[in-house]
Amino acid sequence: MKRVKYLCFDMDGTIADLYGVENWLPMLRAENPKPYMTAEPMWDMERLNNALLKAKKKGIKICVITWLSMDSSREYKKEVRQAKKNWLMEQNFPFDKFHAVQYGTTKGDCIRGIIKSNESATLFDDSEKVRYGWNFGDTVDPTEIDIIEYIERLVEWQVFLFFSLDVLRPKKNIDLLENCDII
Ligand SMILES: [Mg+2]
Repeated sequence: MKRVKYLCFDMDGTIADLYGVENWLPMLRAENPKPYMTAEPMWDMERLNNALLKAKKKGIKICVITWLSMDSSREYKKEVRQAKKNWLMEQNFPFDKFHAVQYGTTKGDCIRGIIKSNESATLFDDSEKVRYGWNFGDTVDPTEIDIIEYIERLVEWQVFLFFSLDVLRPKKNIDLLENCDII
């Protein structure tokens, strides 16, 4: 079993309610970054952030992997990247890595180079197509699953894994002692 090392979050439709902003699409087409700034959070961010901080204490890293707006100018991409980062900071979202990538990019490319063979990465993303293309670990559909409860349970499970390892450790020491010639 691989240990969960990364929790990867999409933003729009997963943690930020971009599609709930009135006229979001015409504004994006007009290269207005405002909807990314004014999107309401989709979760109780205090609870979500607390769950993530607990995960971080267990050595889990928090990644944001979000697409930029479709067919946009270089200048607008820059604005959107900043708007998304500002949104996360305003919400105190405790991210370790932030990837705002070209619309349609394979999200796994952001993690491919850093993930080790004994590690896995869980993706939270409202797009079925993106979840389907993820092959670094579990995927979670935030429209179906309470992501806060999911993370809280995951952290408990990781605690259990560490506890199991701690139980094994003294036995190893005893074995070592038995193999020693004690004078
Ligand atoms: Mg999305």
